[in-house]
Amino acid sequence: MRVQDRLGRPLANLRVSVTDRCNLRCQYCMPERDYVWLPRADILTFEEIETLVDVFASLGTTKVRLTGGEPLLRKDLPDLLQLLSRKSALTDLALTTNGILLADQVTALRAAGLPRLTVSLDTLHADRFQALTRFNSLDAVLRGLDGAAAAGFDSVKIDTVVIRGVNDDELVPMLEYGRGLGAEVRFIEYMDVGGATRWSMDDVVSRREMLLGLSAHYGAITPVDEQTAAPADRFTLPDGTVFGIISSTTEPFCRQCDRSRLTADGLWYRCLYAREGTDLRGPLRAGLGTDGLRRLIGETWEARDDRGAEDRLASEDRSRLIPVETLQDQPHLEMHTRGG
Ligand code: SAM
Ligand code: SF4
Ligand code: SF4
Repeated sequence: MRVQDRLGRPLANLRVSVTDRCNLRCQYCMPERDYVWLPRADILTFEEIETLVDVFASLGTTKVRLTGGEPLLRKDLPDLLQLLSRKSALTDLALTTNGILLADQVTALRAAGLPRLTVSLDTLHADRFQALTRFNSLDAVLRGLDGAAAAGFDSVKIDTVVIRGVNDDELVPMLEYGRGLGAEVRFIEYMDVGGATRWSMDDVVSRREMLLGLSAHYGAITPVDEQTAAPADRFTLPDGTVFGIISSTTEPFCRQCDRSRLTADGLWYRCLYAREGTDLRGPLRAGLGTDGLRRLIGETWEARDDRGAEDRLASEDRSRLIPVETLQDQPHLEMHTRGG
């Protein structure tokens, strides 16, 4: 059975956060000093995640991406990948990581059946990396990416959040670096999600501006002709190099959005910007069973009409989304908890 929401969007794509903890403090995601972490007892076990993924798959989910927080901090993560990579209903399984622990884990991840990997990397300058993330760990990420490039994945991608005055002069170096590794680079517009407490529209570099800058350097850039629900619009440089731009802020793609998010403690969000999630852990642990969960998830999705980023774009008040004090009381509103 394939459910659709009120705008006809399928429940195709699930992002599963395996932990809310992180070993970086990226300015645009976790800028504060103190955090309220989710209680350990609330974190879903691998078996619970597997049960929920099976229910989602029975409603039409074919793509699963593991994320966090930093997913490589989750103990024994390859065991979960082994469980999920055996699911024939899933045509796509991927992981997004900051890459800090990747060099040590990449072989095990690949051996566990992970086909696709995305590494987040915003700068190739060590001082900027430290200023952005509060850790002096650029070399570890680069080593991780070297390992990933050699590990035989079906695809390795690099996701780069572009922020004005911070790394907007690195689009070309990042593309060159990605090309050298055989990794596709995707530039992400800076989003005003929960946790982005320093966000301002002035800091957003739009897709249009990125394309103008890149074509001034490389010459004519051609859009890749493809119809997908994937958030990145893909483009080709004159030499054939393909890259993507995720224009969530200035040209959101909510109309095609088939994505939902499961937090590490089992709250399910139908939109990145949604204030309320649906508790799946409670019913699961209370013994609701697969049919009951299928009904709960299916009916909730059928009622979905979220278009968070489009609403934000239309909103007259384009200051940051959620005040810091609210985030401290409600950690589920944070990007690192929700799973970006
Ligand atoms: N820790 C892992 C990582 O950084 O790859 C996975 C979780 S992180 C929340 C997932 C993605 O969200 C990262 O690529 C990160 O750059 C992106 N992200 C976080 N805050 C963002 C923001 N304010 N605007 C755009 N992207 C953001
Ligand atoms: Fe940075 Fe990802 Fe950690 Fe957020 S969750 S602070 S984006 S590494
Ligand atoms: Fe999907 Fe919500 Fe993001 Fe729009 S804002 S693309 S509906 S998750």
